[in-house]
Amino acid sequence: MANLGNITNTSEILQKYRFRMQKKYGQNFLIDTNILHKIVEAAQITKEDCVLEIGPGIGTMTQYLAEAADKVIAVEIDKDLIPILDETLAPYDNVTLIQGDILKVDLHKLSREQAKDRPFKVVANLPYYITTPIIMELFESHIPLTSITVMVQSEVADRMQVGPGTKDYGALSLAVQYFSRPEVVTRVPASCFIPRPNVDSTVIRLTRHTSPPVEVTDEAYLFAVIRASFNQRRKTLVNGLVNAGNLGVTREQVEEVLTQMGISKTIRGETFTLERFAELSNRLAQGRR
Ligand code: SAM
Repeated sequence: MANLGNITNTSEILQKYRFRMQKKYGQNFLIDTNILHKIVEAAQITKEDCVLEIGPGIGTMTQYLAEAADKVIAVEIDKDLIPILDETLAPYDNVTLIQGDILKVDLHKLSREQAKDRPFKVVANLPYYITTPIIMELFESHIPLTSITVMVQSEVADRMQVGPGTKDYGALSLAVQYFSRPEVVTRVPASCFIPRPNVDSTVIRLTRHTSPPVEVTDEAYLFAVIRASFNQRRKTLVNGLVNAGNLGVTREQVEEVLTQMGISKTIRGETFTLERFAELSNRLAQGRR
């Protein structure tokens, strides 16, 4: 039985191993059974499922995942947590623990060797200092994942869902919406963690699209265009694209494409929808050097 989702058992195990929380690894451990149940339920895990957990910590959520899923692969960066995880996960023979940095792990190898290339679900209480790179890496690697259910900073969850014309709209909103359908599961108060984070948290589920909502000739180029457009928020889209220097297009080419699309040269990136970015990048890709 999962037994860690409360303050008493969590404190006990931390003291037993004299474990010191590491701020640099974004360590805020969940101590609320209700939230743990909600996350596992929202991830819709069944006994057929293979789950990838990023940052198991002391194994609190891992225990819940191990009981619900067929197999759990957990990747933890902090070597000092491994002996603790060996103890807390000992009752579960369906968990594979990998010590390493998720941003350096070969995701294709992991998918091939651990998940035997079958589709899997990602579930995590993410370290907040690298939320965006982790989400981008998971999607852009094109490993066969069907959903990502994660705890993130509320502000980041907001950025994932918004559309053009709002201050939170940017490269993350577009990338998340290109790859998936985002849905907020629940807001989580700081009192559900130790130590308490000094930001609000939200659980969000990103259900991967079976095919992207727009047609793009070169996905990497689309994301280069999007990043360039938001690099200099207060500049025009044309300046952002030209100043990026990695798109292989001249100012004249960008202006010509905008004219063909019937769009003003003074437009800013934050007003552009995903559909427009797709069209812009397809047209620019055709003429680039
Ligand atoms: N899952 C646990 C829970 O819910 O109580 C811990 C969550 S804590 C917010 C984030 C976890 O991610 C920590 O255990 C931390 O050591 C781990 N972590 C931080 N950076 C990581 C990285 N680059 N790769 C893998 N794990 C990482």
